[in-house]
Amino acid sequence: MKPTLTLYNTLTRRKEEFETIHPGRVGMYVCGPTVYGDPHLGHTRPAITFDLLFRYLKAEGYKVRYVRNITDVGHLEHDADEGEDKIAKKARLEQLEPMEVAHYYTERYHKYMDMMGVLSPSIEPHASGHIMEQIDFVQKILDAGFAYESNGSVYFDVEKYNAAHHYGCLSGRNLDDIVTDTRALDGQSDKQHSFDFALWKKASPEHIMRWKSPWSDGFPGWHMECSAMSTKYLGEKFDIHGGGMDLMFPHHECEIAQSTAALGHDSARYWVHNNMITINGKKMGKSYNNFITLEQMFNGEHDALEQAYSPMTVRFFILQAHYRSTLDFSNDALKAAEKGLDRLMKGIEALGKAKPAATTSFNAAELAERCEAAMADDLNSPMVISALFDFVRIFNGLADGSQTATAEDLEALKATVNRWVFDILGLKDEKAAAAGGKDMVTPLVEMLLNMRLEAKAAKNWTLSDQIRDQLTAIGIRVKDRKDGFDWEIE
Ligand code: ZN
Repeated sequence: MKPTLTLYNTLTRRKEEFETIHPGRVGMYVCGPTVYGDPHLGHTRPAITFDLLFRYLKAEGYKVRYVRNITDVGHLEHDADEGEDKIAKKARLEQLEPMEVAHYYTERYHKYMDMMGVLSPSIEPHASGHIMEQIDFVQKILDAGFAYESNGSVYFDVEKYNAAHHYGCLSGRNLDDIVTDTRALDGQSDKQHSFDFALWKKASPEHIMRWKSPWSDGFPGWHMECSAMSTKYLGEKFDIHGGGMDLMFPHHECEIAQSTAALGHDSARYWVHNNMITINGKKMGKSYNNFITLEQMFNGEHDALEQAYSPMTVRFFILQAHYRSTLDFSNDALKAAEKGLDRLMKGIEALGKAKPAATTSFNAAELAERCEAAMADDLNSPMVISALFDFVRIFNGLADGSQTATAEDLEALKATVNRWVFDILGLKDEKAAAAGGKDMVTPLVEMLLNMRLEAKAAKNWTLSDQIRDQLTAIGIRVKDRKDGFDWEIE
């Protein structure tokens, strides 16, 4: 019998049996990146955690609509709704249009997520493309009496909301804690209370990204886009809302308050949060000099890195920890992950080459059972990997003859490995893929180099040099030897 999927719901602080609102269908919304900088390690954990959930739900037969947004407007520097817009600031510094900045970093995000085997979501809405929906949502909150207009901006009335509902239900705070935590206002603000947050901001004269609204020429507050876009694409009530733990407060807390104020109820049934990545035990950040972009991660060019790590090494490393545990990046841990992944792929290769026998010397069904049970228990990917490693020993035994398996069991094991390693964990055999590429190149290069030997024998130096130079130009280094040639890809 299939185990029942349980998910830890941050809102109720317990594991709950997963039941969908509509039979067989899942609506999932995950907060995506603010596109004003190069994709870095901090982007990898939420992307991979929710990719794992997306892949798993699909493999379980659900029809999943996965919405992951792109924040290209409204994310301000201080406390998310004070100060300069992050994208507008980058645009000013680089003398670009804000939309050029957003487009460039969105493309970079896609490129690096693709390298890491992160599937594209079903819908990827941009905040700037949904201004009308956000204005309508703000109006609903105003109509319900939970917001006020002040000098062209609209703010959420946290105190009034808190009297009717609980502001802080997700992060487990109450308004008194929040009052003490909130920094004092610099007299510039139009807010009634420091803990109120912006639903709409009036644009200052130098602010480039601005739209017309009933209140002012301005732009939406950061939290507003997720409420408006999740409702538009998933409805007023949907199954899963995800994101990093750092978004729990204030972002997700504000989303819950906005939905409850406008619709009368919270939108999401399960709130799922991944824990954070630290580097050598420290929080990652530009000021710590441990802020590593994915480009640096994959080429090794950063002081904190002893070598380059491949995209699949980083993915495997992330999957080796449970998504709710903190994960510490260190060179030692990454090197261990690199070795582990290599061992897993070699074991799978051994399984592929195994010859069928009359009997099976082990319990072949156990691998699938252990993987299913682990994943159903709040996405326990480290337990899935541990089951796979136990079977790698058996697969290696099939190669040296210390274990045997029938043809039927071998086929079933290959199917189990495909489902778990490639479809659900989303891993790829990078070495085999690289070798596969070279297999096409090898006969072509050798054909050309044999033609060059013939040209040399015929003293046709022009053609001989031409072949060598053109190969060099595309990155193939040719070394002449007495008995022929050697070549390598640079
Ligand atoms: Zn969001």
